[in-house]
Amino acid sequence: MSYSYLASSIADSPTLRLNEEARLLLERGQPVIHLGIGEPKNKAPINAILSSAAKLGTGDIKYSPTDGNPSLKKAIIRYTEENYDKVVEPENIIVSSGAKQAIFNVLYALLNPRDEVIILAPYWVSYPEIVKMVYGVPIVVTPEDGSLHPRMEDIIRVVSSSTKAIIVNSPNNPSGLVFSEDFIQKIVQFCESKNIYLIMDDIYHKLVFDDKKAVPCYKFTNKDIEDSKVIVTNGISKLYGMTGFRIGWTIAPRRLVQIMTNIQAQTTSCASVILQAAAEGALTGLQSVVENLRLTIQNNRNIMMQELRSIKGVNVTEPDGTFYCFPDFTAYVRDSVKLSNLLLKKALVVTVPGKEFGMEGRLRLSYAGSVKDITEGVARIRWALDPDSPNEIYIGDRKMVRDWL
Ligand code: PMP
Repeated sequence: MSYSYLASSIADSPTLRLNEEARLLLERGQPVIHLGIGEPKNKAPINAILSSAAKLGTGDIKYSPTDGNPSLKKAIIRYTEENYDKVVEPENIIVSSGAKQAIFNVLYALLNPRDEVIILAPYWVSYPEIVKMVYGVPIVVTPEDGSLHPRMEDIIRVVSSSTKAIIVNSPNNPSGLVFSEDFIQKIVQFCESKNIYLIMDDIYHKLVFDDKKAVPCYKFTNKDIEDSKVIVTNGISKLYGMTGFRIGWTIAPRRLVQIMTNIQAQTTSCASVILQAAAEGALTGLQSVVENLRLTIQNNRNIMMQELRSIKGVNVTEPDGTFYCFPDFTAYVRDSVKLSNLLLKKALVVTVPGKEFGMEGRLRLSYAGSVKDITEGVARIRWALDPDSPNEIYIGDRKMVRDWL
């Protein structure tokens, strides 16, 4: 049997795999704490539930236009106006089955084989794999000053005649950093002047703490959207904690939207109309759910920081947004896969190795779960790392032995 070399070389999603591992361990009654999770614990907003239930109740569940229901697009236009101060037309929007599909379709629509896409480390795990799936070449740029914030000089150094696009994700998964206004201004202006597409993955852009704001990219370009290189992807997964509803969207020049629409027409036809109705309900309903979620996560972030700072030698940059932080454990172990596996086995805590995000020595820890999970999870990590910890502890009725560092 022979399979496609390309398809066989695509890595699995480490975060989805860890979700599954944690689920299986929990099912077997193991007291696992999941700090790898990328979704908050809230229930879906009531307006989303009512809106999708009403649609289902009609029994009239057919295809929608490939690029999305006009009423959902209207809600996205309003959202874009309110949050980006930008007026876009329905022809500049395409609705997809999640932001992940949106990003896939953008890259599929943009790239010729061997075109390069610049990805800023630490990066979301899926970017390099998606680029490879559409025959592109991911070019990873790591800040040379050892920080988590990208720098223009590092980016400019790798730009070549094959550079087709740069992906920017701020607030950033996994670091939680909101990139500086100065950086966003420079990268927008650089891409506009060099004819390089700038894909802004804004999936966390309202999940920002301490009165900070993720600056909207359109602020730094006077180009008409039809001539602009700026493309924005977004969705309801993180904004409303609606990961299972699978609705995302793209804002782009209309020619790109047309090409993406053709791709979608020949693959999924359209996003599910029931889930589009849910997204519309969420976007047009009470927005206090977003603020409540933000405040809960901000409080969790504070607790996570307090707990992590009590582990000697662990350095953590305080996140400005998202549900993640990306502490540095090199004082203990540099091999993040080894560390993550050991923490799972020896302390029953799920973490995601930094290597998956393009940086060693770090783990991504999520604070999207409960306060109890955060405090207990970090306490277990502290026990496992600190040489002054007792050699044995009980987790539930399981004796855990600290015999590995
Ligand atoms: N971009 C980033 C940075 C993400 O973290 C995620 C989800 N983990 C996505 C895109 C995809 O979101 P969706 O659930 O809408 O596919």
